[in-house]
Amino acid sequence: MKYPELSLLIDGEWITGGGRATVPVINPATEEVLGHLPLATAADLDRALAACQRAYPAWRAMAPHLRGRILHKAAELLRERAEEIAQIATVEEGKTIHETRIELGMAAEVFTWYAEEGRRAYGRVLPQRSPGVRMTVVKEPVGPVAGFAPWNFPLGNPARKLGAALGAGCPVIVKPAEETPASALAIAKALVDAGVPAGVIHVVFGVPAEVSQHLLTSPIIRAMSFTGSIPVGKALAKLSAEGMKRTTMELGGHAPVLVFDDVDVEAVLDLAVAAKFRNAGQVCVSPTRFFVHESIYERFVAGFAARAKALPVGNGLDEKHRMGPLAHDRRLPAVEAMIQDAIAHGAKLQAGGHRLPGKGYFFAPTVLSDIPDTARIMNDEPFGPIAVINPFKDFDEVIQKANRLPYGLAAYAFTQSARRVNLLGEQIEAGMIGINSFTIAVPESPFGGVKESGHGSEEGIEGLDACMVTKFITES
Ligand code: NAD
Repeated sequence: MKYPELSLLIDGEWITGGGRATVPVINPATEEVLGHLPLATAADLDRALAACQRAYPAWRAMAPHLRGRILHKAAELLRERAEEIAQIATVEEGKTIHETRIELGMAAEVFTWYAEEGRRAYGRVLPQRSPGVRMTVVKEPVGPVAGFAPWNFPLGNPARKLGAALGAGCPVIVKPAEETPASALAIAKALVDAGVPAGVIHVVFGVPAEVSQHLLTSPIIRAMSFTGSIPVGKALAKLSAEGMKRTTMELGGHAPVLVFDDVDVEAVLDLAVAAKFRNAGQVCVSPTRFFVHESIYERFVAGFAARAKALPVGNGLDEKHRMGPLAHDRRLPAVEAMIQDAIAHGAKLQAGGHRLPGKGYFFAPTVLSDIPDTARIMNDEPFGPIAVINPFKDFDEVIQKANRLPYGLAAYAFTQSARRVNLLGEQIEAGMIGINSFTIAVPESPFGGVKESGHGSEEGIEGLDACMVTKFITES
């Protein structure tokens, strides 16, 4: 795999430097510098904004099935380039090649979904109030969109931002994470090669706060979509409010996992350990707070710890590994501090808890049990390879524990009781609930949270709707 030259994409031009400031991109498994990323200047951002404005009328006027053809073609190109792109994502982000292959497949499916869904942006005709009167509701593209995508899904996150806007007929400026630029550029290249016209998509990098400030204070941008932490999301929501821009906010989570006493414990453990350590836990819907019925608690904790200790950790390019490094060096002290705080509050360390020796930002898969609610990890998103496990006695108690935090992104529960499943569906405060499953994100389902985890959804019919506005027309 040859790591590609890094660039910006503005108005159809791949801009590779030209004296702009750069930041190094680091392979988190080896700490080697992969390349130098040029950062957009204010003039670059203004150029992208102006190009969006110029390209908007023609892209909006293109029939949705023709826009769909381009998205279908881009999906096809991604599938053809799958192995090369998966390797790029692994060296940039650290997650295993198994995971980046799956992520690439999902990114392609996201384009396929929006290619089709754009043709179904139906309006409606309302029943007449009097003869000769016709009342219709139509959906229109919202206008140029700004998307901010983090590093943890270096392919999937940019694909969601780009796919929704393009499918709806909107130009889009996306600012992917500076840690994982080549992955995002590979996604954009598939779109350009498939025929997205110049000016319709732009990929920019920079100092995140400066880029978002610049784009969100421009009247050209009509909607924004952000995936990242709650504090940054709140800051961007305030900026967007100044211009009354539509927002989609995919923020953090602290997903509870309720394990009742009627399950096959070993089977749940196999699923739970794989889900917990996927992408080293750096996933907004990662299962983070395990609540296990007291009658199976000790067995569950021991089984989790044994599996965590046996997990093959190492460079994600090596097929035998099941967990790679943390994505950047900032996560190491953050994860360590959370574990130390939990232990200081009386938690029991059952596995891991330390960095792994040698090069790379590797951290041992960690299991903590018996953690008091006062520990920081019971309240703040861990965003790392740490499973926290506590016991519960009864249904009402565990629902209260699950809903205790201001987060409301994902939640999971394992039980064979149909009655309990119904009650869980009614009572858990989350945007997505997996019952006997950790698979909650597919292109046709809405992905989003409630409470401080954000608002709006990506994917599903809701994902397209986020990039559209509603217009009512009455004729008499
Ligand atoms: P961070 O908050 O500095 O950055 C998170 C992401 O937001 C990055 O991609 C960054 O480029 C972007 N960002 C930060 N400030 C921004 C701004 N003012 N305008 C636009 N974009 C901005 O944190 P980090 O150290 O990279 O990651 C740690 C935390 O971020 C985690 O604890 C987690 O809560 C959160 N995070 C969440 C997700 C998610 O999927 N919801 C993904 C990545 C990170």
